[in-house]
Formats: sequence, C-alpha cells, structure tokens
Amino acid sequence: MSFQPNNPDLKSFIDVSKDSDFPIQNLPYGIFSTPNQDARVGVRIGDFVLDLAGLSDAELLKDLDFDHSVFYESVLNPFIELGQQNWRATREKTSQLLQKGSPLEDKKDEFLFPVADVTMHLPVRVGDYTDFYSSIEHATNLGKLFRPNGEPLMPNWKHIPVGYHGRASSIVVSGTEIHRPKGQILPKDADKPIFSPCKTLDFELEMAFIVGKSTNLGESVSIKEAENHIFGMVVFNDWSARDIQKWEYVPLGPFLGKSFASSISPWVVTLDALEPFRVESPKQEPEVLDYLKYEGKHNFDINLEVDFIPQNGEATTISRSSFKYLYWNMAQQLTHHTVNGCNINVGDMCASGTISGKDENSYGSLIEITQGGQKNINLKGGEIRKFIQDNDTIVMRGFCQNENVRIGFGEVSGKVLPAK
Ligand code: CA
Repeated sequence: MSFQPNNPDLKSFIDVSKDSDFPIQNLPYGIFSTPNQDARVGVRIGDFVLDLAGLSDAELLKDLDFDHSVFYESVLNPFIELGQQNWRATREKTSQLLQKGSPLEDKKDEFLFPVADVTMHLPVRVGDYTDFYSSIEHATNLGKLFRPNGEPLMPNWKHIPVGYHGRASSIVVSGTEIHRPKGQILPKDADKPIFSPCKTLDFELEMAFIVGKSTNLGESVSIKEAENHIFGMVVFNDWSARDIQKWEYVPLGPFLGKSFASSISPWVVTLDALEPFRVESPKQEPEVLDYLKYEGKHNFDINLEVDFIPQNGEATTISRSSFKYLYWNMAQQLTHHTVNGCNINVGDMCASGTISGKDENSYGSLIEITQGGQKNINLKGGEIRKFIQDNDTIVMRGFCQNENVRIGFGEVSGKVLPAK
C-alpha cells in the first residue's frame, strides 16, 4: 500500500539531517511533557517534538473529525482506540503541517519543542505483555546452552510461534534505571539454591508491536486481518537474569528471571511508516498449519544494534542484527495468539523474542555472544565483560534505510544499578 506521507520527495521546514531516524516520512507518536505542560501526545520530527494538543488548541487540526481530548491524554491508548482510519488521517495532517510553506512554518516555535527540553513517558498503558521466541537462530543457540545433550529446537518450534505471558507492570520507558534483580540461584555443582543478586544479568535485543484494535473474548483474528490490529512498533530490551531463569524455568517457563524489567524506546513507529521496508520472511519448512499460512511480505528490514557502555566509559557496539531474520512474523504471532479465542486489547504489547542472526556479531544477547559466559567481550577502553555489571548501560537502536529515506526508532537505553 502507498501512503502520501511516505513520499520520499516530501521536505519539511524543519532541518532534518540525513542520518536522523525521524524525517518527515516517519512521524512516530509518543507521550511527552515539558516543565510547563503535563504529559500529552507528540509527534517526532528531526530533533523536535510536535505538540498535537497545542495544535488542537490553536485550531490547526480542525480537519481531524474526532474528539481531540485524546491528544491531552498521558497515554496513546485513547488515540489508538479511534481506529486505523483516524491514525492515518492524523499522520497525513501532521505531514501536511510540517511541509514547507504550511501555515505552521511561521509559528513553529509555539508547537515544536527541542527533544532536549522534553521528558518522554511510557507511550501506552500496557494491559498485557506477551513475549514470543521467534528467532530460529536465538532459539537454537539457547537450546544448545540450556540443554547441551538434547536437540536444540523443541519438536513444536517450527509449528507454533512459541511465546509466554510476560509481566506488563514492569515495562518502562528508555532512560529508566533498572535495579539488579535478586532471586534463587543454583550454584554450579550445588544441590540447593541460594538467595542472591543475579550474577549473570543479560539483555535481549527485541522489537515489540503495540495492539491497535481490540477483540472480544472468543474471537480470533485471521492472518489476513492481523496487521490491521497492529498500531506500531518499538525497540524492546527484555532484561534477563540468566541464573534465576535457569533454575526456575522448568517446567512452566520464564518467571522472575524476566519480570523485573523490560525497557522500550519512547517513539511508536507506525506500520504505515515502515511500509517501504517490507521484505520476505525466511522460508518455513515444514509447512505450517493453514491458519498460519500467509501471502505477501510480512517481515520488515529493520537494522538493530546494541551498544555496551561501562560507567564513565565509551560505547562499544557489540551486536548488529536485523528484524528481518525472524522466522515467525508479527501477523503469525498475533493470529496464533488469538486462535484460541483469547481477546486482545489496545495497548497490549507483543515482543518478538531475542533477534539473533547467523554469525556471532549478530547475536542478540550476552549469553549467546559469550557462549554462556565462556568468552570475554572486550570493550573499548580495555574493560572486559561476560555479563552486565552494576552501573553498565545498554543502548539498543533500530532503523530502516534505503536509497531514499531512513525510518528509525531512536534508542532504548537503560542503566543497571546495584541490587536494592
Ligand atoms: Ca525475551
């Protein structure tokens, strides 16, 4: 599908550098506040945030035929609930207003705030969070580490987009500091667990989609309809306490090793903005069941990077991966999620699972990069790590790039503080 705001020839009166994630063709949504204004809906362009509530006050959004109170909310949920048609109308309107020669150009200082002057907030109220496990490379790597004597992939893996229900309450916005979790750990060669701060704290490089259209209990979403239930995407760091996870995960899966925190990037990039970056998915063999069969391109070519920053140190990029490697796409994930009649709600978040590529430079977690802590990571400035130490910071970025345009997500950053 082609959308007018995606036109690569559009130019804004705001100067946007070529390597910015936020040209006029992107226009992601977020929640921001300023020292003088409560949290409200904004759209990112270059190094500025466009204030939609302010535009509405000034009657510059009169063409948008819905109740503008949604722009004064401290979460995007009420806006998202207005439906795809209205998100599209809003993106089109903001695109027009940001173009050269628009009525906004002369009054831009009233409605555009430098990003450095605003505080970003969690963009949605997350009702439920589901974490998938959709990278075949990651599932294989982890299978080898957790079950060295068995088949790395479980027999169900190529038939089901495997996932589990995560914890929504601990999803935080980029910049939020994370305390090292504590829990039960089984020391090597011991037969009893100890209670301790996590010793093998890890990140997981993921992306998440935000549900844009609710369903009723008992309903299923068909694969054809699935993407119409998705509002947009963010970069997602699913922090993981490997030692806690290893002891607790049998037989019911991840629990406290995961639920202490997940961090997201603050700007929600719409699927419409990602449209030029659709790509084929990896071939699925064996053939999947009919309800999971799809036509067309449902993966997106999103470059992903992870930086490791020790305290007072410089950043070392330790992984470069891509969303396009995922074996199971978002449409399949959402279809599978609802096939049993489970209802979904606007604002729900579904993460992809760690996104690893084939070679070591593209692994999406430390447990893979260090082979379970056997290998060192050499950081710039001489520091060495196997896992995350106190006061280390992890930064993840995502962006799409073609010859015409770059559509990015910005970053999700999180610093690890000592256990409380
Ligand atoms: Ca995960």
